[in-house]
Amino acid sequence: MATKEEENTVFDVKAANVLTKELRDVFASGKTRSYEWRISQLKSIVKMCDEHEEDIVDALRLDLSKPQLESIVYEHSVMMWVPHYSLAFNLMDILRLFSMRKPCLVRFCLAGYSGNEILTMVKNSCTLAIKELKRWMMPEKAKTSLTTFPSSAEILSEPLGAVLIISAWNYPFLLSMDPLIGAIAAGNAMVLKPSELAPASSSVLAKLLPEYLDCSSIKVVEGAVSETSALLEQKWDKIFYTGNGRVGRIVMAAAAKHLTPVVLELGGKSPVVVDSGIDIQIATRRIIVGKWGCNNGQACISPDYIITTKDCAEKLVDSLKKELEAFYGKNPLESKDLSRIVNSNHFARLTKLLDEDKVSGKIVYGGERDEANLRIAPTILLGVPQNSLIMKEEIFGPLLPILTVSKIEDSFDIIKSGTKPLAAYLFTNNKKLKEQFLMSVSAGGVVINDTTLHLAVHSVPFGGVGESGMGSYHGKFSFDAFSHKKAVVYRSFVGDASLRYPPYTLGKLRM
Ligand code: NAD
Repeated sequence: MATKEEENTVFDVKAANVLTKELRDVFASGKTRSYEWRISQLKSIVKMCDEHEEDIVDALRLDLSKPQLESIVYEHSVMMWVPHYSLAFNLMDILRLFSMRKPCLVRFCLAGYSGNEILTMVKNSCTLAIKELKRWMMPEKAKTSLTTFPSSAEILSEPLGAVLIISAWNYPFLLSMDPLIGAIAAGNAMVLKPSELAPASSSVLAKLLPEYLDCSSIKVVEGAVSETSALLEQKWDKIFYTGNGRVGRIVMAAAAKHLTPVVLELGGKSPVVVDSGIDIQIATRRIIVGKWGCNNGQACISPDYIITTKDCAEKLVDSLKKELEAFYGKNPLESKDLSRIVNSNHFARLTKLLDEDKVSGKIVYGGERDEANLRIAPTILLGVPQNSLIMKEEIFGPLLPILTVSKIEDSFDIIKSGTKPLAAYLFTNNKKLKEQFLMSVSAGGVVINDTTLHLAVHSVPFGGVGESGMGSYHGKFSFDAFSHKKAVVYRSFVGDASLRYPPYTLGKLRM
């Protein structure tokens, strides 16, 4: 039990200094480099998830009143465990297969799976790392050229040292654990600073990680701006930050003082382009699941706005209204399947976007709010002007504007007029349009005919481009994000060409 005095201890620059020194010492001892240490930590994370699933889901409910099923799907990303890894189904697919019109059936089916059949996304990341770690750690053979003959070369993945992970509130468990898994797999010592805006999750992490993991090399610092600033004053070997671009700039400026490399997982306005001639009901459901089914729009890769043709817009709006009502009922403010807005500041920010004169008359569905309970209903706006506030900043909430264009190809210019988004989605059956989209729209990731699913594919990198971030992670990319790729060239004393050495005479060339 901590004494009153200990509880009140502030985490300042001095404390941060002591902490980094401890981490540097333990890293220098070589402890975190060994395969065995990495594997044991990863296995302990799986154990922690198994033994404390309820505590974690409860914390998420307290922080965001996240629906339990959504917590399990996204924070824990339920996967059906089947013998062949490549055949693993993501639960989102199962949900789609069963159709979210029948949540009771889905819940019933889920309840039927036992703990070891249902893996969490965090557990899934761990399982993958445990399975692949030996291969990831192995030196990669590299080709050499005639110029260096005789020689051989390889690339060694070397841990970076002491790394800092700063995570955000919207998926507080996943966004803390996923980078942490990468940092462990790569053999680093680390500090995790969870978001103060998700206090229950932050405190669960601060309690559980030291119980399960090696607390001499994996530390948790809870706190807000002052604690993060104290950590940012220190020299790190990498900083991995998830959050908004304003703080991203602060992180990068602090890192620049020590020439520390950064991964910045930021956000942006992720567009959805909806072409004609598609199955509008399936497209609508996939948009809804990606928008309101992801933390009620408070997700970095949630659809931010839709662009469709004038001809298509009415059909799309009708379909969205119909499906939204089927999913969340006639009074969505009371739906148990929608998260609340994280806090009153974000609630005020979102209502300001809705109340701007330019957009207030454009609501075609929703708009209801309940300030006392921080709830905002799924809201669709049609024909908002591009110069409105809602089209200028990342919405990060349950509001979805729809812009219309005469030709679907005109949507590309609208997207390109803004900063590069974290994700971009296109619904079409037109092969040429797909190609044009991929060629002309730059985004962190793209999904064709669905939304948000790239997050669950660990064989592709997850990260932004331009203002949506730099660097990437997930799967092997997480290991790479926390490793230095050390080039090693091997030579022997055989075949020493005198041509290399001065004096450089023509005579040597003729030899
Ligand atoms: P947040 O408020 O939780 O902030 C993120 C972290 O920054 C926290 O740990 C916080 O303590 C720290 N922080 C805040 N102000 C600071 C300051 N002045 N100095 C130093 N540290 C500070 O989260 P947020 O920024 O509101 O998160 C939402 C944003 O994050 C959105 O833009 C979203 O798109 C983005 N996001 C990106 C990803 C991704 O993977 N790319 C994931 C989630 C969220």
